Amino acid sequence: MHFNILTIFPEMFPGTLAGGVVGRALERGIWSYDTINIRDFAINSYGSVDDEQFGGGVGMVMRADAVGPAIDSVKNPGKIIYFSPRGSQLNQKMVREFTAAPDAVYTLLCGRYEGIDQRIIDEYDITELSIGDYILSGGEIAAQVFIDSCVRVNDNVLGGGADATANESFEIGGLEWPLYTRPSVWRGRNVPEVLLSGHHGNIERWRKQQSDEITMKRRPDLIQGNKK
Ligand code: SAH
Repeated sequence: MHFNILTIFPEMFPGTLAGGVVGRALERGIWSYDTINIRDFAINSYGSVDDEQFGGGVGMVMRADAVGPAIDSVKNPGKIIYFSPRGSQLNQKMVREFTAAPDAVYTLLCGRYEGIDQRIIDEYDITELSIGDYILSGGEIAAQVFIDSCVRVNDNVLGGGADATANESFEIGGLEWPLYTRPSVWRGRNVPEVLLSGHHGNIERWRKQQSDEITMKRRPDLIQGNKK
């Protein structure tokens, strides 16, 4: 997968993506990225990419005549995504769809200030994506969330292959069961007996029952919505 990242803060990349399994996948060439500094397309020698809102109101808006040329400079943009609180909220099902083609290319537009001039969204075939119902100061963290979640589902990224990602929250039609590792007793707290029994059928039944219970309690909306 390849990501073209349009931002006024290219130094924020790879950022968190340099660490862990996703960072290793970057080194191994499973994914790659380029940053495009929107400031390079500023409308004047002061580096301006934003301006006051028409209609008044606090906060600046990123100018179409800076962002547009920045998008146009990308030779192979693939699908263009603009991170915005107004977008559809990213979920694991969408991540699977975005990653169905392992050689997919995405151009990720990171907003700053109050956001981007609407005409950019109208001019290009842009998908607006939100990472949740809260306001960030910029799209860069959202872009890193998107990339991390997309890279992680690649079968060669996690040890354990396809099994490792298939058995997680949302993928199993609900939330994950409780996890335990050594020591088997910690501060007087025991690991559930069944997990030490070596009986795979019972372990599977216990996990399913725990997962159903926790999902019903915390996220009943998942029970209808996301079942596989
Ligand atoms: N004025 C906007 C918020 C601007 S926040 C509004 O009221 O909707 C500045 C930038 O941060 C946005 O352009 C967007 O790129 C990014 N951003 C903020 N919150 C986000 C979220 N929940 N998901 C994705 N991107 C977000």
